[in-house]
Amino acid sequence: MVVGEMIEERDLVIIGGGPGGYTAAIRAAQLGQKVTLIEKDVLGGVCLNKGCIPSKVWAYAARKKSEIPHMESLGFDLVESGLDLGKLLAYKDQVTTQLRKGVEALCSANQVEVIQGAATFTSDNKIGVENGHQFDIYQFKKAIIATGSTPVLPGGII
Ligand SMILES: Cc1cc2nc3c(=O)[nH]c(=O)nc-3n(C[C@H](O)[C@H](O)[C@H](O)COP(=O)(O)OP(=O)(O)OC[C@H]3O[C@@H](n4cnc5c(N)ncnc54)[C@H](O)[C@@H]3O)c2cc1C
Repeated sequence: MVVGEMIEERDLVIIGGGPGGYTAAIRAAQLGQKVTLIEKDVLGGVCLNKGCIPSKVWAYAARKKSEIPHMESLGFDLVESGLDLGKLLAYKDQVTTQLRKGVEALCSANQVEVIQGAATFTSDNKIGVENGHQFDIYQFKKAIIATGSTPVLPGGII
């Protein structure tokens, strides 16, 4: 692993580029802070990439499918022939990619620096960011932890 020699200084670092993190980053930048947003995966978090948006695509597809019998009763000649899951996944990817580009553009327009990597605190005013073999250290005045949550499966149920 290569450890960065320079310690970079920031007003505010935010860990996590989900809805909590990127909105905080944009607002802080608008208020004049020098902001660095650190995301270990892709911008948008669970909501954009796995949760809210994909689930709405599935719901939209299910609603459209449920309309087919009614469309036929209106005289449309439709053949219900199953679902091409690959096409549905490609459509979902198209939607999430487009929205993610919107988040990236908003960050860029507001001069929010986005760094790819997994962040860990190395002291009470320093954060280390690991990306592959690279490990860079950032000194901050303030930090926001917006790392979301992970599900817990209670034992003994399944
Ligand atoms: C199936 C599903 C459907 C949902 N539908 C809705 C809905 O319709 N409406 C609604 O309001 N909410 C919905 N939610 C909830 C919504 O997704 C969450 O409330 C929202 O994503 C929380 O945002 P967040 O920024 O707090 O965390 P997250 O979205 O989890 O983002 C946290 C980010 O931090 C990053 N991160 C974590 N640790 C580190 C680290 N050490 N270094 C760098 N980055 C790190 C993660 O990669 C992630 O991108 C849904 C959730 C699910 C699972």
